[in-house]
Amino acid sequence: MIKGRFAPSPTGRMHAGNVFSALVAWLVAKSQGGSIVLRIEDLDAERSKPQFIDAVQRDFEALGLTWDEGPYFQHDRDEAYQAAYDELCERGLVYPCFCTRADLHAASAPHHGEKLVYAGTCRNLTDEERTERMKERRPASRLIVPDETLSFVDGIQGEYSQNLAAECGDFLIRRSDDAFAYQLAVVVDDAAQGVNSIVRGVDLLCSTPQQMYLQDLLGYPHPSYAHVPLLVAEEGRRLSKRDHDAALDALLERFKTPAGIIGHIAGITGIAPTCDPATPEQLLATFDLQAFASSIPNNVQIRWS
Ligand code: GLU
Repeated sequence: MIKGRFAPSPTGRMHAGNVFSALVAWLVAKSQGGSIVLRIEDLDAERSKPQFIDAVQRDFEALGLTWDEGPYFQHDRDEAYQAAYDELCERGLVYPCFCTRADLHAASAPHHGEKLVYAGTCRNLTDEERTERMKERRPASRLIVPDETLSFVDGIQGEYSQNLAAECGDFLIRRSDDAFAYQLAVVVDDAAQGVNSIVRGVDLLCSTPQQMYLQDLLGYPHPSYAHVPLLVAEEGRRLSKRDHDAALDALLERFKTPAGIIGHIAGITGIAPTCDPATPEQLLATFDLQAFASSIPNNVQIRWS
């Protein structure tokens, strides 16, 4: 049985890009008789706001993007993250990192898609050096990666490979303030919640090998992946919460009804042949992931209009 997911971070209202990836996640699961889990990714306690937790659920409901299970909340899941973290530590795969800028945004999904390769600066510190540094600063924790290339076939992007040592480097699994990092939490949650079909923005494509590596270490199965193109305001700039005309309230004003919004997004992204109003349920009748994937004009960026 296919189980997909919506995994919003409640750091703002939804915009057209979030609606697009949730719509594809829903269509992929439902077109195969599957279900959807809703998981609120509020790991980043400072940026997550209660009003957005409510709003995101109301928005999904209004759009006809139904879920079958949840909401689950990451703030309830510390014990599970801790158990996975302890297991990795016991196997000698984790070391403290004292690099200062390192952990700034580790709890958030790294949406820019640009990856800084960690040089391994703190990997070989001696025990004395670690004790000494610990007096000045709480360390973050990094997972040691092997010189290994991970490959998989993405349902939309096709074949993708990454050498973990060369293109990623040892990555953060915990911040210096003790919050677990996005990469670890998302892997533990997807496995625990039985998610086996992941649909999300292509900006997270380069995180997938890290997540697959964690799945291997923790003995979890690999889900299938499909990374959808980003909706961009202009060449190279993804829609964001700053683009108010793409935020949900503005979309409702422009398209009048939830079906107006869904239909427009389906039309400009190639899910449907026209931009006529449509509900997710109506789009389901003709949706096929492979057909959609091979017909998208550009699988990295689609201009929002
Ligand atoms: N919570 C992340 C976001 O809002 C998504 C993470 C994921 O799909 O793996 O962008």
